[in-house]
Amino acid sequence: MSLWEIIRRLYPYVLPYKRLVLSTLLLTLVGSLAAQVNPFVLRYTVDTVQGLLDAHKGLAQGLDLLIVVSALLLGKEIVNTFIQFGQKFYGEKIRINVSSTLSQDAIHKLLGYQLGFYSESGNQTGKLQTRIDRGVESLMKLVQNFFIDILPLFANAVVALVIMFTANVYVGLVALFILPIYFWISYRQADKLNGTRRALRSLREQKSQGLVNLIDSAVVIKSFVREDYEEEKQNQLQQNLQEAQLQTRKTNFLYDGLKTFVEQVGVVLIIILTAYLVLDRQISIGAIMFHILLFNNVSAPIRQLHRIYDEMNEALTYSEGFFDILDADDAKEATGPIQPDQVRGTFEICNVDFTYPSGTQALYDVCLTIEEGKTTALVGLSGAGKSTIINLLCKFYEPDRGKMLLDGRPLADYDTHALRQRIGLVLQKNHIFKGTIEENIRYGNMHATFEEVVEAGKQAYLHQQIMELPKQYQSDAQQLSGGQQQRIAIARLFLKNPPIIFLDEPTASLDAIATEQIKNSLDAIKQGRTVVIISHSLAQIVDSDCIYVMKQGRMVESGTHDELYDMKGTYREIFDASARSLNIEKIARVMADDGDEVMDTAG
Ligand code: ADP
Repeated sequence: MSLWEIIRRLYPYVLPYKRLVLSTLLLTLVGSLAAQVNPFVLRYTVDTVQGLLDAHKGLAQGLDLLIVVSALLLGKEIVNTFIQFGQKFYGEKIRINVSSTLSQDAIHKLLGYQLGFYSESGNQTGKLQTRIDRGVESLMKLVQNFFIDILPLFANAVVALVIMFTANVYVGLVALFILPIYFWISYRQADKLNGTRRALRSLREQKSQGLVNLIDSAVVIKSFVREDYEEEKQNQLQQNLQEAQLQTRKTNFLYDGLKTFVEQVGVVLIIILTAYLVLDRQISIGAIMFHILLFNNVSAPIRQLHRIYDEMNEALTYSEGFFDILDADDAKEATGPIQPDQVRGTFEICNVDFTYPSGTQALYDVCLTIEEGKTTALVGLSGAGKSTIINLLCKFYEPDRGKMLLDGRPLADYDTHALRQRIGLVLQKNHIFKGTIEENIRYGNMHATFEEVVEAGKQAYLHQQIMELPKQYQSDAQQLSGGQQQRIAIARLFLKNPPIIFLDEPTASLDAIATEQIKNSLDAIKQGRTVVIISHSLAQIVDSDCIYVMKQGRMVESGTHDELYDMKGTYREIFDASARSLNIEKIARVMADDGDEVMDTAG
């Protein structure tokens, strides 16, 4: 991205603050004029003092001069304080406002993108956050540089240079001659730092990431006794960081020294030239100080040049990644015109192929029908494509090929948000937001009253457990156990009350008791709704109205449990393996013995 392009992109963001921008520019102009007062006052003072001395006059006559000069300098400083405050404050106000609009814009766009966008390489959670943070930060540095640094400093420099030229062309030329050398050194400095800064930044990230990983993997590290190994890895990083830090400092000190030297050469040249001109009686003695101070105004901004250049480079690098996020229009979630008043929930899927954005083809020529008001189970080994079907039904992704209908109309034609309002999704692990239990349950229906939240808690067999907590519904939801969190997801479902429910292994990570309780609450909610369930638990599959069996992305069998069992195909294989893993024969024997004992005692 070129600088021009960045400015063009930032323009609409800065436009609402037109007045602020104009005020800042005006203050900048006044400020740069005020900055030139000192050289004038000093020249006047020196020349007047010289005149008094030449006329053999003393302190008594000079008193008026002192009062005038003090008043002038003090007055100018007071004005300057206001100008600087206004300029910095307005500049900062523009920066802060633009930065929050940019961040909010990125969040708005992100929320509207398809799920596929998040899994693209370069968009994964951490990377996306870094791209946004870095992008906004570097763009804002650019805005700040422009309004707070570049503009005032360069306005100062230009005004000072013009005054120098007007006062004396030769002195002006000397100042002008020094500038390109100064520019060149600054450019070299920025160029050198560019590489090392980037390396430094990457090392810092690695270091902080390393630390986070250490904490995350503490249990594994300790259990394998790999403390020394991990410490050595961190040590190596630290060493590299140290070297990069030293290298940056070295470059800075070297070039800063060089610039000071060139600047001093400029000062010396100006002293020699102005002294010569004074002796030649072309200018007054006050002009020596006059020109030295003006030259200082010219060189001050250029002293900062390497930093400005460096930050500009950074903005060029990071803004591209940031604007890519804003511009990913093709990742926007598709939606359709149909606003369904009443969804019945008959899905027909026909000849559907689907490939994830990563390139993995997950479905091949899949056909199935999900009937309204019935429970349909999807069965298959891990990776067979069951969750992918649910992803397509929720419109998280679009199929590559094939037909998907809901109540006889293309799924793509439904308004995506309206459709999802009518679907309840419970996954193996559901996200619990930071906040209270009440807030987390209410996510199912933002307008629910507290009584409705409690009712949902009861239906999800969670209420009793919540009441035993010290803060009850106000307890931190993230502190709950896996089973309790799962029940929060089900309570959300009760509150949302959707006609269609998708359950993707809702009890896979739970203990037997929790599984049974959750099965009970799910059985309660299933009544009269269209349900699709994926589960490895036979209990939840066998009484489904229809079972579809998938294998490596293809639909291989379908029917009721009895039909599929008799077919002796994939379903039977999975069923038998599950039964064996549960050691069902032994369990059955134990239960039968138990039954006999009961009969004996009864007899
Ligand atoms: P199942 O639910 O039957 O275990 P999935 O539908 O989750 O299987 O996965 C089917 C295939 O798609 C697998 O090969 C899996 O690796 C792949 N897959 C699943 N989710 C994604 C994703 N977000 N991006 C890329 N590939 C995926």
